[in-house]
Amino acid sequence: MAQRTLHEVMTNASLIKELADVARDEALLQGVLMRIQETPNSSELVTYAPFTLFPSPVPKAVFLQALAVQTHYNTLVDKISQDTDFLCSALASTVEVDDFTARLFGIHKQILKEGKSQSVVLGLNRSDYMLDQSEDKTSSLKQIEINTFAASFGGLSSRTPDVHRHILKVAGRLEESQRILDNNPAAGLARAIAKAWELYGSERAVVMFLVEEVQRNIFDQRYIESELWKRNISTVRKRFDDVFKTGSLDQNKRLFVDGKEVAVVYFRNGYMPQNYTSEQCWDARLMMERSQAVKCPDISTHLAGTKKVQQVLARPGVLENFFPGQPQVVEQIRATFAGLYTLDMGPEGDKTVAMALAAPDQFVLKPQREGGGNNIYGSEICRVLEGVKDNTERTAYILMDKINPTPVQNYLLRRDGPLTISNCLSELGVFGAYVRQGEDMVMNECVGHLLRTKSSEHSDGGVAAGVAVLDNPLLI
Ligand code: ADP
Ligand code: MG
Repeated sequence: MAQRTLHEVMTNASLIKELADVARDEALLQGVLMRIQETPNSSELVTYAPFTLFPSPVPKAVFLQALAVQTHYNTLVDKISQDTDFLCSALASTVEVDDFTARLFGIHKQILKEGKSQSVVLGLNRSDYMLDQSEDKTSSLKQIEINTFAASFGGLSSRTPDVHRHILKVAGRLEESQRILDNNPAAGLARAIAKAWELYGSERAVVMFLVEEVQRNIFDQRYIESELWKRNISTVRKRFDDVFKTGSLDQNKRLFVDGKEVAVVYFRNGYMPQNYTSEQCWDARLMMERSQAVKCPDISTHLAGTKKVQQVLARPGVLENFFPGQPQVVEQIRATFAGLYTLDMGPEGDKTVAMALAAPDQFVLKPQREGGGNNIYGSEICRVLEGVKDNTERTAYILMDKINPTPVQNYLLRRDGPLTISNCLSELGVFGAYVRQGEDMVMNECVGHLLRTKSSEHSDGGVAAGVAVLDNPLLI
């Protein structure tokens, strides 16, 4: 087929229609799957996970920068999780007003009082970035957040490269097709889980995926389960309710659920208040935390991933305290920070309020929530801040500079969605995996990446929220 320019491809309506049909089939063939909304707990009818028709351009230098800083982020999260005084002071104002964070913090305090019963720590995280476009058209890597809890799409993103390679070939773009990077986060995440399982030291014990009530994104998790089964490590999927009903600790605090000893609890649920549908869910969470099972994440690592901690890390001198004598590491991490501002009571917080009210379009107001769709933008920032600015309620939020990436045109493919060209913004995620036993870091790696793309009409929301779709970087 003659080479067409990508622009010619993008604007050729009949070709786009043909490519979209090919793309959907290829996604199904490659296993880029999701259960359908109507029957989210059955795999009888499935569809493709939403994805872009074409990969999106990402400058090579910033991509490599994001990969290079990941092991330092792993170390940072791990250090924060071990620094009781830091967590306590960083979250002090937040736990006063935010019930969910306070509840998590309560578990943290109880575990500190009782003493940890497991010295093995397993961290699987994903640091997310957007590329801020400056006036001179250069783009710089800015962290949106780091997810230390249930960071998803490490499975499906292992399968999307072949889909984009295929589409580009059919579109007559062989050269770009060959530039799509291999990616296999699922393998790396599973390797870390397997290491933690091995250190737990019982052949019989299983890896328990603590899963949601509604499991549309099960295939993403199945990739990791498969990798574990390949190593002859058994996995089970349990909900909070199952753990509450059939779980117990023996006198050595070994965790048993439904008769099986659990070596590793891998939380894929439990990061939102709504996940705790009853007091029994909280009881189950506490039981797992108290147990000898390796928790991914444990409660202190969960707290290390809060947005308030992210804001405190950006204060002068804080990174230096975590990396004494390592100015290059500090510099590498700090280079990825966007402006982050406290809303604590006092003159500094007052200044943040005034700054946000004066130019709300330049900021994002963030509560201590995860999962997409919680942040506040534009005029809504003024409405919310006017209501809370004079009392401690405001300390439930942090303020962040709004990152402005360059929009790129693409087609977003989702079930029953229209095939129209959109102005899109992308978010690059980098997966990190680490395992520590006592003082020894036995694994600390960057294990892959994820590109998610959404229409620029939406300021917030991930893939699960139905806004963003899976993508691949095309390095430029
Ligand atoms: P969540 O925990 O809900 O995923 P995030 O901080 O990742 O919270 O924000 C959700 C989404 O909002 C991001 O995926 C991104 O699209 C958008 N967003 C968050 N922070 C910023 C920012 N500083 N600038 C621009 N967009 C942002
Ligand atoms: Mg996010």
